[in-house]
Amino acid sequence: MPNIVRVAPEIYLTNQILESVVELACLDLEGVLVPEIWISFAEKTGIEELKATTRDIPDYDVLMKQRLSILNQHKLGLKEIQQVIDTLAPMDGALEFVDWLRERFQVVILSDTFYEFAQPLMRQLRWPTLFCHRLEVAEDGKIVDYKLRQKDPKRASIKAFHSLNYRCIAAGDSYNDTTMLSEAEAGILFKAPQKVIDEFPQFPSVTTFDDLKKQFIAASNRKLEL
Ligand SMILES: [Mg+2]
Repeated sequence: MPNIVRVAPEIYLTNQILESVVELACLDLEGVLVPEIWISFAEKTGIEELKATTRDIPDYDVLMKQRLSILNQHKLGLKEIQQVIDTLAPMDGALEFVDWLRERFQVVILSDTFYEFAQPLMRQLRWPTLFCHRLEVAEDGKIVDYKLRQKDPKRASIKAFHSLNYRCIAAGDSYNDTTMLSEAEAGILFKAPQKVIDEFPQFPSVTTFDDLKKQFIAASNRKLEL
C-alpha cells in the first residue's frame, strides 16, 4: 500500500503521484525546440533587417517595434508570415526530447512568441502547454500591434508556479530567458551564443538534447533515469 498524503482539504495523493507532479520543466521555444521564426522569415523574404533577435537586441520592446515597422514598410502581413511558419519544422530531436520530458515532468513552454505564429509548430510538437503573447491584426492582415501578456512574463510565470508549490527547472538560449533561469530552482542554457554563456556563468550550458536530458535529471529532486 503506498502512503497517502493529504496536501489540501479534500485532496489526497499517493507519494508516487505527488513525486510526479511537483516538478515542472519550463522550456523556451525558439532556438531550443524550433528555429528562430523571424530569422526563417527573413531568409525566405530576403529582408536582412528582420534577422535581429533577442540575441542581438536584448530589449524585446525595441526589437518588436522594429520588426513591425519593417513588415509595414514591405507591406507584409500575418498571412505571409504564417505561410513561412507552415514550412518550418521542430529541430532534429526536439519532438523526441519533449516526449521524453513529458514522461518525467509536467512541461510548460514559456515563450516570447505569439499564439498566431506558433500554432503550426505546436501541432508538430503535439500541443504542449504554451504561455506566450498575442498579436493585434487588422482585417486586411496587417499586424498593427502586439500585446505582451505581462511584464517579464517568463520570470512571472516561474513565480506563479512557485506560489502553486511547483519546483521549476528551466532551459533557454538567450537574454530573454535569463530571469526565468534565475528564478527557477535550476536554470540551464541550451545552444546559447557565447556572449550569453560568458555573461551568465552561473548556469550550466549544453548543446545537445542528450546533454539537456542529463541536466534535467541532475537538477531534479527525484531519482530519474535516461
Ligand atoms: Mg529562444
